[in-house]
Amino acid sequence: MTVVKDSGARSMLPPFGEEHEELRQTVARFVAAEIGPHVDEWEAAREFPRELYGRCAELGFLGLKFPERYGGQGGDHLHDAIWVEELARSGGSGGVAAGLNAHASIALPPIFNFGTEQQKQRWLVAGIAGEKIGALGITEPGAGSDVAGIATRADRVDGGYLVNGSKTFITNGVRADFLVCACKTNQEGGHGGISFLVLERQMPGYEVAAKLEKMGWHSSDTGELAFTDVEVPAENLLGEENGGFKLIMANFAWERLLMAIGAVGAMQRLIEVTVAYALEREAFGRPIGKFQAIRHQVAEMATKAEASRALTYNALRLFHTGQDCIREVSMAKLVTQRAVLEIADQSLQIHGGYGYMREYGIERAVRDARLGPIGGGTDEVMKEILGKTMGL
Ligand SMILES: Cc1cc2nc3c(=O)[nH]c(=O)nc-3n(C[C@H](O)[C@H](O)[C@H](O)COP(=O)(O)OP(=O)(O)OC[C@H]3O[C@@H](n4cnc5c(N)ncnc54)[C@H](O)[C@@H]3O)c2cc1C
Repeated sequence: MTVVKDSGARSMLPPFGEEHEELRQTVARFVAAEIGPHVDEWEAAREFPRELYGRCAELGFLGLKFPERYGGQGGDHLHDAIWVEELARSGGSGGVAAGLNAHASIALPPIFNFGTEQQKQRWLVAGIAGEKIGALGITEPGAGSDVAGIATRADRVDGGYLVNGSKTFITNGVRADFLVCACKTNQEGGHGGISFLVLERQMPGYEVAAKLEKMGWHSSDTGELAFTDVEVPAENLLGEENGGFKLIMANFAWERLLMAIGAVGAMQRLIEVTVAYALEREAFGRPIGKFQAIRHQVAEMATKAEASRALTYNALRLFHTGQDCIREVSMAKLVTQRAVLEIADQSLQIHGGYGYMREYGIERAVRDARLGPIGGGTDEVMKEILGKTMGL
């Protein structure tokens, strides 16, 4: 099947330049050769091989935005954005992207941003090298959107903390070597009583309670974790005690922006594949793409994708230049996660019965996209944030 490469796309849009485009080509080649051909097998196995982290590390993809002194590439968030977008565009697996990005772009940044030098040497360096896998643990069975309502406790004891509680829906939760974990560190908890501790898999009392079965993201492992009297040394406290809410908020901005960027990449893929299919598949003696109804569907898809891209790149530009962008990031997250779901559904419709079959990866795109309006802050939470930024 021929794939039309530039349907609805621009090769370069600010803030990206020539150097970023080169990285995009490198990522595209890697993903096409080493990820794409295996996705079906990994989806069926309900995980991708751990070695993929090592391979991505070898090629520098896990450390794009981190300084060279920690084994990174010395780039910035724009390089990471290229990686995330291209992984989604050429990879076509939400699960693989989720597993790699939950490690490099969600669990490692708080260690880089808030960790001591010793903590960076221990987890950031090993993480960038793909030797240790990280996860971020905030959500609990009883607290998702209401982040301040977490109940996992870390009680002060001699030399550190005693942690009791549980986490759920944790991406990489089954295989993670370390967990950047939100805990309640005073009686009240809430905004002024949350701290982050790095919990390690081998600590007695740390248990992977379940590997969860999901609607989409099949190739990523999603875990439920239980902690019973886990002794965590004081040196594993990340940032200030009771200052964890700041860390959560700092992380959310990048996580949400990444989700928007990933959606932009996924939309691009869906449009490319759909245009190619519409030119190839014939009905009533001509390619279905020549029917006005189909052309209009594709035009709508491309318009949604372009609007999503513009909104997302604008938020990225603001983020990259250190400006206040909570409003733009929330808007980008809100719009793109719905848009990619709609586009995946439109693509499935155009593919007809074949779209419903595994072969084209469209049914997977629909399932993978459905998480977007829920994970990393739901649509309703985004709207709450937006309303508040408008003084309501
Ligand atoms: C596959 C997967 C991977 C995930 N990975 C991670 C991870 O790695 N780490 C992690 O910490 N978490 C992770 N999550 C958790 C995810 O971030 C939460 O699911 C999400 O924040 C929503 O929380 P909840 O599921 O508890 O829903 P709830 O908070 O229980 O919400 C249920 C419904 O109520 C609505 N609602 C809640 N509060 C309000 C309100 N104030 N006003 C209006 N409506 C409201 C919500 O919008 C939603 O529609 C993952 C989830 C999934 C499914």
